[in-house]
Amino acid sequence: MKPDNSKSGSRTVFYILIVFVALVLINSYIGDKVAAPKQVAISQIAQDVQDGKVEKVSIKDSEVTATLKNGSSEVAIQEANSTLKDYGITPDKTKITVEDTSGSAVWYNLASIFLPIFLIGGLIFFMLRSAQGANSKAMSFGKSTAKLFMGNKKIAFADVAGADEAKQELFEVVDFLKNPKKYRDLGAEIPRGVLLVGSPGTGKTLMARAVAGEAGVPFFSISASEFVEMFVGVGASRVRDLFLKAKRNAPAIIFVDELDAIGRQRGSGLGGSHDEREQTLNQILVEMDGFEATDNVIVVAATNRPDVLDPALLRPGRFDRQVYIDLPDRTERTAILKVHTKNKPVESGVDLAKIAASTPGFSGADLKNLTNEAAIMAARENKKTVTQAHLNESIEKVMMGPEKRLKVLLEREKKITAFHEAGHAVVSHILPNADPVHKISIISRRMALGYTWNMPTEERKLQTKAHFLDEIATLMGGRVTEEEFFGKENVTTGAQNDMKKATELARHMVTEYGMSDRLGPQTYGHHDDMPFLGKEHTEHRNYSEDIAKIIDEEVTKLIADGRDRADKLIKSHKKVVTEIAEDLLKKETIDDKEFLKYFDEKEIAKEDKKKSD
Ligand code: ADP
Ligand code: MG
Ligand code: ZN
Repeated sequence: MKPDNSKSGSRTVFYILIVFVALVLINSYIGDKVAAPKQVAISQIAQDVQDGKVEKVSIKDSEVTATLKNGSSEVAIQEANSTLKDYGITPDKTKITVEDTSGSAVWYNLASIFLPIFLIGGLIFFMLRSAQGANSKAMSFGKSTAKLFMGNKKIAFADVAGADEAKQELFEVVDFLKNPKKYRDLGAEIPRGVLLVGSPGTGKTLMARAVAGEAGVPFFSISASEFVEMFVGVGASRVRDLFLKAKRNAPAIIFVDELDAIGRQRGSGLGGSHDEREQTLNQILVEMDGFEATDNVIVVAATNRPDVLDPALLRPGRFDRQVYIDLPDRTERTAILKVHTKNKPVESGVDLAKIAASTPGFSGADLKNLTNEAAIMAARENKKTVTQAHLNESIEKVMMGPEKRLKVLLEREKKITAFHEAGHAVVSHILPNADPVHKISIISRRMALGYTWNMPTEERKLQTKAHFLDEIATLMGGRVTEEEFFGKENVTTGAQNDMKKATELARHMVTEYGMSDRLGPQTYGHHDDMPFLGKEHTEHRNYSEDIAKIIDEEVTKLIADGRDRADKLIKSHKKVVTEIAEDLLKKETIDDKEFLKYFDEKEIAKEDKKKSD
């Protein structure tokens, strides 16, 4: 039901009625004025007929109307039991028409009785109806708002690039929905629920829709947060309704997006929607347990926080199958870029693999965004094709925000920024385990006045302690350079983000990665993720005050050591830092090839250092 539509519909009818009534009133009013004929005796009309003044005579019941040749008219009442002939009014003298009014009089009388009743009745009807409309709208809260996708705009596995393992697993689900008998004959139990797990933008929603597209079955999609609204009990009844709909349309897929919105561990929530969430979650569990073996309904859910899900959801018979979708690797990124440049006119020489190589850590959604930015950029420049330069520029835009070229920096700020960034770059270049410099820039983006972009040469799944130590030193490189070149008392707020990152990293090394010699291979603290509070707010301390003190000391030491290493490097490389900073002030950006030129002769030294490590 669409309450909004019917409401506006009844309103239209109501307006039409008002206009109609007004027209009738106006008509009868005007009609009275214009047509008001002169009241005369019937003998007068007879006389006029004799005189030949009358154009025509019409008889309506006992009323005789004579239309005169001069345009006016007269009306007289014919006496009962007399005919016009008695007065000498005959057809050979004038035209006589007799209006049969018996029918219209009946209608007229009926109308005059029923029209008002009808109008008033209609009015009451519409008033009641709109009141009810509001009512039924309130009642429909319990109905699921699931969107049904069927047949239209089919998405296939081919539209999902990469993620081959995930596709393989989901292919089985599709096959089951298509040929349930094949599996049942072998006594195989089909998974009731499939949980897609992956970071945001890795294509979980896309994958679920591809499953539906491939299986060719109805696909009920709902976002878990839609279950939970203001009214208690609504979430649970929505779940019931959704499952009912799906079973009626079986074979079908129910897709619950962002499952973590309701599937968080029960008993750990805060705030008003807590009970509601639990009831909704319970209802999902109940419904999934209530599946008959013959119900060809599979629940697919997606989450980026499997760690916070209630364990009951992951029990066998529920979401017992978990499909992990990782961030795409280099080849997968190339494939995704291909998918999203298919409908864009890309210049022939464009090397998508190169873009893929420069975008480690990008999700499918980021890559889509990148190609879109490139197309927008090309359009803005009135180009007919998207070029490599457009794509390259878009990487930085997606990663670090748009350039703020209009932001005017003071000459002095520019200079400090140039030295600061040169410092980061030099430290990271010299330290063997830091990521190589890809680009340095003093063009502002988002909050940063400048940036040094370090890019790993390979995609690592594991990080080493040595890498983290070099990273902390690199982060310290900016502030240290400011001190060295402008004096300790002239350091700026530009290093704020560097310090924040370094502190977080050091803390994680100590408390989570077991990378502190003093504290050993243990984790400290337990994070209980609550939906409405930031992570750090709800950290449970499961260690003593003494340990807390040591943690702080270890973190401080890691950062101090990093700072010292950076300081030494900057002091011994003042010349190259100055060169780079001065070039930055002229060119604004320096890319990796240009950057390496500053170190040509020192390259060998770095290689030697690597070997000896
Ligand atoms: P998630 O649900 O995991 O957050 P989405 O499925 O909403 O991510 O992905 C957002 C968009 O990113 C998709 O609509 C699609 O255009 C693009 N995308 C993500 N992953 C891929 C992929 N593997 N292949 C092609 N496009 C992808
Ligand atoms: Mg999604
Ligand atoms: Zn910095």
